[in-house]
Amino acid sequence: MTKHYDLIAIGAGSGGLSAAERAAMHGKTAAVIEVGRIGGTCVNIGCVPKKVMWNAASIAAALRDAADYGFDVMLNDFDWTQLVGAREGYIRNINDWYRTYLKDSNIDLIEGYARFVDQRTVEVNGRRYSADHIVIAPGGKPLVPAIPGAEYGITSDGFFALQAQPRRVAVVGAGYIAVELAGLLNSLGSEVDLLLRRQHFLDSFDAVLRETLMEEMVNHGVNILPNINVERVEKGDGGQLKLHCGGGHELDGFDTVIWAIGRAPNSADLNLAAAGIAVDDNGYIPTDAYQNTSVAGIYAVGDVTGRAQLTPVAIAAARRLGDRLFGGQGERKLDYDNIPTVVFSHPPIGTVGLSEGEARRLHGDAVKVYQTRFTPMYHAFARHGSKTAMKLVCVGAQEKVVGCHIIGQGADEMLQGFAVAIKMGATKRDFDNTVAIHPTSSEELVTMR
Ligand SMILES: Cc1cc2nc3c(=O)[nH]c(=O)nc-3n(C[C@H](O)[C@H](O)[C@H](O)COP(=O)(O)OP(=O)(O)OC[C@H]3O[C@@H](n4cnc5c(N)ncnc54)[C@H](O)[C@@H]3O)c2cc1C
Repeated sequence: MTKHYDLIAIGAGSGGLSAAERAAMHGKTAAVIEVGRIGGTCVNIGCVPKKVMWNAASIAAALRDAADYGFDVMLNDFDWTQLVGAREGYIRNINDWYRTYLKDSNIDLIEGYARFVDQRTVEVNGRRYSADHIVIAPGGKPLVPAIPGAEYGITSDGFFALQAQPRRVAVVGAGYIAVELAGLLNSLGSEVDLLLRRQHFLDSFDAVLRETLMEEMVNHGVNILPNINVERVEKGDGGQLKLHCGGGHELDGFDTVIWAIGRAPNSADLNLAAAGIAVDDNGYIPTDAYQNTSVAGIYAVGDVTGRAQLTPVAIAAARRLGDRLFGGQGERKLDYDNIPTVVFSHPPIGTVGLSEGEARRLHGDAVKVYQTRFTPMYHAFARHGSKTAMKLVCVGAQEKVVGCHIIGQGADEMLQGFAVAIKMGATKRDFDNTVAIHPTSSEELVTMR
């Protein structure tokens, strides 16, 4: 017999859990289907374990600074295995918490792989479940290049499975995951080469961010190699990995190669055709502003839509969808403009709104930019110091702030409040009218000339 719900979510990650939760909150029957670990990418192999590793890398950096602050600290060792054990224990607690939470919220957890049977029905392990509303939230997976020997490398998923610290690593990629993994491994003491296919990383980010980060990473020991195209990976007798690159270039002696070249949606095996759901050429499921797919009653949220692939975006879109479907809020939807985001690089980046380049393309001469670059007080007398850079992109006579870009210590925690101001339409004058907090780095954002 087919069990029927008001809402079924496919995927118990950020988006699917939030959709089911919101339906239950509005008194509806809901189920969430999960083939892997509850919590999805963010909890298990994304934001959470990444931030734990970033925290460890930040502690390593602070220990290096300690002597400049008068501490006589002798660093003997760093136990990667212990850290990974503690990290995974923490994540298991989150997994367990979710299980209890779903039970307490009367949301059924169906374990297995979901495939569409028709527009109202999915099948999991031979059993059928139907719903008036189906939310597709299966997330994505890391890409591996189609080159000989690619299987000798790992992806971010494999990085989180490493039980011992890699000693000599090649990170291949130019997106935020590539710079984050390269930065934290370098700070924890691995020898890191970061291989870029083009000249720069973080292409869609404001130039001040990517140029400052590039300089900082090089200063802190990451070997950045631009314009490298890996064509083949060879494994030597001793297990060391050799990269054969375009132009006859060879890079040798790696124990670990990490592919961070992008992600693809988990949509291919869902049997979307049985329900007539449209996908684009890359397998993403297009949605309108209300998360509707091409089929009435079927929605998509999160990474599978290909838009702003971030946990809070998946959550916010799913919650608003639930409020629209069941909460009597017919126009509720997520506004995808001005989504703040952080890159947990070393130092971190916080960014929201238009880059200077985007603003100039859209608004031409109406753009005015304020920027600053300085050594933050924390690093003023530290040998391993790093710079902070900030940019405000403003438009029109009112100087509406349409972009705020920060790189430097604390940027990750600085940005959220400024993002609120920008979302509300703040002008440069509003920034100037705000009294600074001293001594901080963020005060520079309200005192720029
Ligand atoms: C290394 C890394 C670091 C990241 N860091 C950050 C960060 O710092 N901040 C941030 O905001 N975002 C970060 N992200 C992105 C964030 O993890 C994703 O945007 C977010 O998890 C997307 O949520 P989702 O619900 O779309 O999919 P997911 O969280 O991926 O959940 C999808 C779930 O669906 C399951 N599934 C797939 N197909 C099926 C099926 N057919 N049947 C049943 N279950 C299925 C999967 O097993 C998975 O558990 C990071 C991602 C990675 C990879």
